Amino acid sequence: MAIRVHVNDPLDDEAMELLRSKGDLEVTSEHLDKEELKKIMPDVEVLVVRSATKVTADVIEASQKLRIIARAGVGLDNIDLEKAKEKGIKVLNTPGASAISVAELTIGMMFALSRHIARGTMDLKEGKWTKKELKGVELTGKTLGIIGLGRIGREVAKRALGLGMKVVAYDPYVKEIDMDVSLVDLDELYKTADYITVHVPLMPETKHLINDEAFSKMKKGVFIINCARGGVVDESALLKALKEGKVAGAGMDVFETEPPTSDIEKELLSLPNVVATPHIGASTKEAQKRVGKEIVEKIFEALGI
Ligand code: NAD
Repeated sequence: MAIRVHVNDPLDDEAMELLRSKGDLEVTSEHLDKEELKKIMPDVEVLVVRSATKVTADVIEASQKLRIIARAGVGLDNIDLEKAKEKGIKVLNTPGASAISVAELTIGMMFALSRHIARGTMDLKEGKWTKKELKGVELTGKTLGIIGLGRIGREVAKRALGLGMKVVAYDPYVKEIDMDVSLVDLDELYKTADYITVHVPLMPETKHLINDEAFSKMKKGVFIINCARGGVVDESALLKALKEGKVAGAGMDVFETEPPTSDIEKELLSLPNVVATPHIGASTKEAQKRVGKEIVEKIFEALGI
């Protein structure tokens, strides 16, 4: 009997071809909403998702043969890991495959904020020549504070060093680093950084890590970037800090609600010094190819085929 693999969020074409190349697998690919997905779950042995599908306890409970939940990407916050563990279901992901893409977006946000690229574009499209209002700052010589020096944090550090920035980082689990990066405590990072970027997973300890108290310890005129997960930066505290001028600008790829619909998020998005993208950190051709190939190879390995 063929092993039923259901791909519920789109995978890269080459990855789909590779998956379909194995005769032992019966592959279906279609985005089903939760109720429809639950209906097919009894037959599914491998469920492949990206971030759109929420693999909640009831989806897992609806399965009978599920062996593998494969997340093509990094974050596992859309999967009920406890329930999967309880049921003995393997959870696979592709850490690292999108690190360069997220790092490049982070650096892009730093440039966009520093040189008013989005505002300049919008003004020009509205027929306004705002040259005098858009004096920027250089990145070279400034201090970047990286919170979370994992795969993405390190890629950001490399690029920032290449731009002539000084890099300080806080990560309680990193004790040494083979780059010209100073490991500091959070207070020191807040005190010295001109730009702060977060690259930690969203967990109870990192939820609202950047809150009112953290903002109060930062330099006036700091830039904040969140390309990690919505909720690591407390959005209402960020809004307050932007309005008070404590924060000079913010770059956001992720939001507490996605798509961002809360009143706070709408107000954040209305500010000229907020640069925002719709969770596209890993959305590059290269990252999606790597993610797709890696997740399919991991599925084959886990199934022993
Ligand atoms: P990683 O696991 O390689 O690195 C995370 C680092 O955070 C680790 O070094 C860990 O020690 C550190 N950390 C944990 N708790 C911490 C704390 N309290 N304070 C400081 N550091 C702490 O993960 P990664 O691949 O670098 O991903 C980082 C984040 O980026 C994740 O939240 C991931 O979901 C997110 N991400 C976003 C996108 C996007 O599309 N925007 C794409 C991929 C990943």
